[in-house]
Amino acid sequence: MTKVGYSQVWDLDVFFAGGSESQELRAHLDASKEEINIVEEKVAKFHTPVSADDGKKVFELIEAIKGTAINLREAGAVIGCFLAANTKDKKALILQGEMGALSAKFANIQLRFKQTLAKTDAEVWQSLLETDELSQFTFILNEWREEVQMKLSEEEESLITALSVDGYQGWGQLYDQLVGDIEIQMTVNGEEKSLSVGQANNLSSNKNEEIRKEAFEKLTEAWKSKEDFFASALNHLAGFRLAVYDKRGWDSVLQEPLMRNRMSQETLDAMWSAISANKEPFVSYLSAKAKMIGKEKIDWYDLDAPVTASTKTMEYEEGAEFILEQFGKFGPELEAFSRKAFNESWIEAEDRPNKRPGGFCTGMPKSEQSRIFMTYSGSMSNVATLAHELGHAFHSYALRPVHYMNRQYAMGVAETASTFAEMIVADAAVKAAETNEEKVALLEDKVQRSVAFFMNIHARFLFETRFYEERKHGVVPAARLNELMEEAQREAYGGALNTVHPHFWASKLHFYITNTPFYNFPYTFGYLFSLSIYAKALAEGENFEQKYLSLLRDTAVMSVEDLAMKHLGEDITKVDFWEKGVALCVKDVEEFLKIASKEG
Ligand SMILES: [Zn+2]
Repeated sequence: MTKVGYSQVWDLDVFFAGGSESQELRAHLDASKEEINIVEEKVAKFHTPVSADDGKKVFELIEAIKGTAINLREAGAVIGCFLAANTKDKKALILQGEMGALSAKFANIQLRFKQTLAKTDAEVWQSLLETDELSQFTFILNEWREEVQMKLSEEEESLITALSVDGYQGWGQLYDQLVGDIEIQMTVNGEEKSLSVGQANNLSSNKNEEIRKEAFEKLTEAWKSKEDFFASALNHLAGFRLAVYDKRGWDSVLQEPLMRNRMSQETLDAMWSAISANKEPFVSYLSAKAKMIGKEKIDWYDLDAPVTASTKTMEYEEGAEFILEQFGKFGPELEAFSRKAFNESWIEAEDRPNKRPGGFCTGMPKSEQSRIFMTYSGSMSNVATLAHELGHAFHSYALRPVHYMNRQYAMGVAETASTFAEMIVADAAVKAAETNEEKVALLEDKVQRSVAFFMNIHARFLFETRFYEERKHGVVPAARLNELMEEAQREAYGGALNTVHPHFWASKLHFYITNTPFYNFPYTFGYLFSLSIYAKALAEGENFEQKYLSLLRDTAVMSVEDLAMKHLGEDITKVDFWEKGVALCVKDVEEFLKIASKEG
């Protein structure tokens, strides 16, 4: 009588029994500390190779680093899971701090190894890459070497790192503090409430225009009242970055983010050109949306407004089966893998208090497993999120045969497998919709995603590029930042907006993330890149899965240009590649407009 379904609570005991109090985990961390010390000694004794015979020593060190990296990652992932599942887990918070210190120390040791290795003479280097042990690492070894060579001397770079703690990272932290302090006073449903920025932001998708507008205006007031502080933080952060680039002799601010994403400037330019040339359909969507909510032209605070409520819901079990069925139509491995994830409690989906918001997927490389975190309450967007995270887990699964050092893929391709999986399910949901209202809501979800990547992210990119140009000549005051942002939004949204959000530069955390400069274009890249893989999958049917797996296996060992050429036969430095992806999104807009006009 009792049907045992999939568990909605994940199993973390298989890694370390006993949660954040785990003795096993304690012992694992202590052992990892020892391992780090051993690697440190080995690196200290390591000398720059002088002949191909030194290849063995290099390989041994790579293996030692790999072993320790896997152990650290395993523990870090599990501790992250503890905290996400219970934000009040104090013990896990302490463990996280400990992990942070260990990881920083380990990163420094690895850097020293790379610096010593990079000094290898060009001829010896070539002979090293031809050895049996090292040929599999050709791509990452060349990347390490190039990076070290493009930077300053060891002493200078380590001085920069030391100074950056207070002179650079500090500005990012100050930003977080300033935002954390903001409280928004609002009356919601007759109740006077004090909201955090995150809570107030959530009101942007409220169906009541008054509430959306009030939340937006109150937030704007808050950004405005501290705009000089935000401008200071942004200017100093950018100033530090520019000063470092200048010393290194880097003249483009895009050099670092492009390098990290293993992408060329031509590819980036081609992508934005294709998007800029195809704004029109999305402008039509936004003006149709304005009409649907009773307006001439859309205001910024309406962008997330629902045009019709998606009423379709699915119980967890039903959602899981729906995903498995759709995955099965794509390929047997994706389906079998995902079924295993459901059966073996890899997923934390329960709707309960004290969980962190949002969703993520994290990998435990030692156990060769992944864990997925989200809060499932039955909406179709929850089903899409679940599919998205399963896509990430499948990416890790695809990479299992690959050496750990060859699995470190960049941000741009990181969202490939997830977006792909999400697309399979989102498309199927639209097809399975039983009413036009439901169909419009699901299609709008898809179109909104394109608007975010082609318009919102584009505005961020335009703003950031122009801001850096001006910053080279001096401090850019808040009033000018507002102007630059307004200009960027007007342009990126193709003139579709009535009111814009000039203080967006103050409100968006991404501009203040120090570890990843230009935290914007990789999102758009990942979206369009996975769309084109999806188009290929549709064209080739079930046979595509093996090709897809081999593409995923190569995501961390070549440039994105080579990846696309090898696995898709596409030249992504050309505008037409990107136009094909945009065209798929335009189809959704057309269908949306067709049904919406019938409905109206
Ligand atoms: Zn993702």
